[in-house]
Amino acid sequence: MRVLLLAPPGGGKGTQGARIAERYGAEHLATGDILRAEVAAGTQLGRHVSDVLARGDLVSDSIIMALVRERVIRASKAGGYVLDGFPRTVDQAVSAYALHADVDISLQAVINLDVPAEAVLERMRARAAVQGRADDTEDVMRHRLEVYAEKTRPLLDYYARRGLLVSVDAAGPIDELTASVFRVLDPIAEPELVH
Ligand code: ADP
Repeated sequence: MRVLLLAPPGGGKGTQGARIAERYGAEHLATGDILRAEVAAGTQLGRHVSDVLARGDLVSDSIIMALVRERVIRASKAGGYVLDGFPRTVDQAVSAYALHADVDISLQAVINLDVPAEAVLERMRARAAVQGRADDTEDVMRHRLEVYAEKTRPLLDYYARRGLLVSVDAAGPIDELTASVFRVLDPIAEPELVH
């Protein structure tokens, strides 16, 4: 299974990404998690990106490509992947396409978790109360939504034009959303791999 999850910040990519990965034996590749792990470990890259993350801005496309390239290729050759948080700009999508073409693979589906901005702010506030991520303050949350609208939303058109996009209503309960996502992905999964 090779699937990309798109959603605004707080849209539920992380939870659904983990569930999809488990059901289809794919690797959950979450660029936000990878970047936060670098920051937590205090690596050179982590020190370089920590301010960008805390501000809610995007890390540069070149850093992201260097970070994901080998992971995407390795996962494609194993059980596949669920991309969560990448690509996040049209330039990243173009690079992702080139990288796939290089190794003769292709994305099978792009799922848009469709949820209104007000609902995602509520979810981010709830998550902030529990996790206290550096980028979960009210101002930064609003900024991340703006960055999403400007830089990431255009990907919906990009993938719709390529016939890959499926939107699912993500405003309801988490388990209902999972069921909707599985209904989309089950038919394109190899039956023996579905758990
Ligand atoms: P959320 O789903 O809450 O938006 P993520 O965990 O996906 O958050 O990402 C957290 C932060 O990591 C982003 O705000 C951004 O700074 C950085 N980031 C993650 N993925 C990318 C990417 N593909 N390109 C640029 N920056 C990224």
